[in-house]
Amino acid sequence: ETDEDLARAIEMLERASSVTVLCHVQPDADTIGSGLALGSVLERRGATVQVAFAAPASLPESMDELPGRHLLVDADEVSESVDLVVTVDAGSRGRLGSLGDRLDTASASLVIDHHRSNTRFGTLNVVHASAESTTAVIARLFDRWGVEIDADLAHLLFAGLVTDTGSFRWVRPGSHLLAERLLATGIDGAHIARKLLDTHPFDWLPMLGSVLGSASLLPDAADGRGLVYAVIRSEDSAGLRSEEIESVIDIVRTTSEAEVAAVLKQQDFGSVWVVSLRSKTEVDVSAVACALGGGGHRNAAGYTATGDLPDVIDALREALSAS
Ligand code: 5GP
Ligand code: MN
Ligand code: MN
Repeated sequence: ETDEDLARAIEMLERASSVTVLCHVQPDADTIGSGLALGSVLERRGATVQVAFAAPASLPESMDELPGRHLLVDADEVSESVDLVVTVDAGSRGRLGSLGDRLDTASASLVIDHHRSNTRFGTLNVVHASAESTTAVIARLFDRWGVEIDADLAHLLFAGLVTDTGSFRWVRPGSHLLAERLLATGIDGAHIARKLLDTHPFDWLPMLGSVLGSASLLPDAADGRGLVYAVIRSEDSAGLRSEEIESVIDIVRTTSEAEVAAVLKQQDFGSVWVVSLRSKTEVDVSAVACALGGGGHRNAAGYTATGDLPDVIDALREALSAS
């Protein structure tokens, strides 16, 4: 991890007159904040820019105040061939969903990310695994490029930073310095954080009651370090937004008796389960998720499983005891 890769990325970005910026599926504020910030700068420099992520998800409602949303286009409107495709916050090609094939039709590709499990699927890969968020990598890129970070860019970069640090819990030296620089542009950090992370409809409360009320604790799992898990069935999540569903893991993972936490999210009343994994310190859930076809960070990872729930849980227990 040097800053030489940033200089090469800037060369690539300056050469391209048409650019597609791809965010990952089930987009969060880090991928959208990164995509819109980079897209906005490229647009100001005169490039033709599209920012997109693969269907079926639409932009989460909590992100509807982010600046630069005019750059977003539907997945089926994304150009077939451009000078450059940039991916942001995607650890593997699979995280781009159906838009992954745009990497093949572009003249070049640039991967900007902070996942340790990144498979380096671009022509050039800027992967800073020590960065708190991909927006923190984008901030380094802007600094090296001489881009002035105004309030709109700061809003976007802060959105990714506050989200991926768990509201400044998972921080490293420099995290608060970056936050300070962004806040000094005059953005309303409290409002941005509340809108992104702390706003749910009343129906969230009965969903939590039902889902958390049937959570399970398996003290013997993960070689005796313990697993806690909760299941969100389609009937629990009916009518709720992704914001409500994604909030559950942050409550489950606080269980003191378990090193590892999981939330299994049923898709469309069927046998496909999107699984979120978290660990406290000891277990590398990124390796567990990789073994099950997914990926992520050491302490936050995910994968998708297909099958009956008991089998999916057994497979998870097995992968955890092998870790
Ligand atoms: P979450 O549980 O919040 O959806 O994801 C936690 C972390 O794991 C995120 O950093 C996300 O990028 C990563 N992740 C989640 N699901 C997958 C997956 O299916 N494949 C890969 N490669 N990474 C995933
Ligand atoms: Mn992300
Ligand atoms: Mn991220």
